[in-house]
Amino acid sequence: MTEKRIALIELIEKIERLGQFQDRIDFPSSVNQIWTAFLVDVQNLIEVDVCALFLVDETNGEFELKNAVPENRAKHCRQEIDLQIECGIFSWIINRRQPALIPALAFEKEKSIVMLPLSTVKRTLGAVMLLTPIQESLITHENLKLLTILTKEFSLVMENTRLVERLRKKQLSLEKANKEIKLLSRTDSLTGCYNRGYLNELLPREITRALRYKRPLALAMCDIDHFKKINDTHGHQCGDEVLKELVQSISLARYGGEEFLIVFPETQLRNASGLAERLRKNIAKNSIDAQENKISITVSFGVTGFNSSNPPKNITPEALIHMADKYLYAAKNQGRNKVISGSLEE
Ligand code: GH3
Ligand code: MG
Ligand code: MG
Repeated sequence: MTEKRIALIELIEKIERLGQFQDRIDFPSSVNQIWTAFLVDVQNLIEVDVCALFLVDETNGEFELKNAVPENRAKHCRQEIDLQIECGIFSWIINRRQPALIPALAFEKEKSIVMLPLSTVKRTLGAVMLLTPIQESLITHENLKLLTILTKEFSLVMENTRLVERLRKKQLSLEKANKEIKLLSRTDSLTGCYNRGYLNELLPREITRALRYKRPLALAMCDIDHFKKINDTHGHQCGDEVLKELVQSISLARYGGEEFLIVFPETQLRNASGLAERLRKNIAKNSIDAQENKISITVSFGVTGFNSSNPPKNITPEALIHMADKYLYAAKNQGRNKVISGSLEE
């Protein structure tokens, strides 16, 4: 084989290898990983002393230094770009979208700089700066062409990575927004506590769980006594404040106007009844600050539930709520500020 032919085959092999740059990158990859792979290929093509990667900052359009090898030449790399910008060479290179060979301005004067603009059809991503000890006249046209092929591949991979990263960020913010929407749909707009919609999710789940694991479950319905009078005496807004303050002090879910439910998982009826009694006493003892009024309120509770050993058949959320409401009604009838509890069957 003639020397010329061997050289040609070697060239074709190099082109093929450079064209496969994308295949050597695992997706998703970080900018640093892609840069490292790029440097390996660059160093196979041309002798370099310093390599620097500049990427366009999308917020201000500036070329920011992302990486310099060796790191201690980063300052020179920035100076080099500044000088090129000042004398107008840099923007000329970027606009041409072609590699350019220029004398070094900030580095050792006898060295050359190869500037490789990174761009896709749509936009400029940045630029790579290579400082080479080879005299300008000795850098071959062929090497520059090979660098062009490699830079195109590098730009494509960088752009893909940027798009993947953007998609990932969008997906994260969508997931966050969905979580917020879900939370909002579960909360009561006035008091911020869980609403009836959430109870409709929670209660069936807790019933199923209690039955499956043979665990007790109790439910209390709480209603403010003579709440209408608070509204009539102090105004509706003050009544609103009382509702807000009440849910601050106890973890309640709002069932209706001034009616709340408390689900007690893993709790025997008598214990739930005891807890409701403690809450009732606390509420009666501590007045609520609402719009510069100190308002004393009392509440009535109806509590029901079932035990783990002998749960009734076909328990529904409606049946539980109905019985809690029934005992609440009894508490109201017996003078209010009371807890009345009883099993589901009665
Ligand atoms: P009791 O339960 O002790 O029988 O008497 P009550 O006066 O509390 O009972 P009733 O159910 O008749 O009245 C409830 C009142 O709650 C009527 C309604 O105006 C008021 N209410 C319902 N929702 C709200 C609200 O969001 N804000 C305010 N301020 N009042 C509300
Ligand atoms: Mg009431
Ligand atoms: Mg009521």
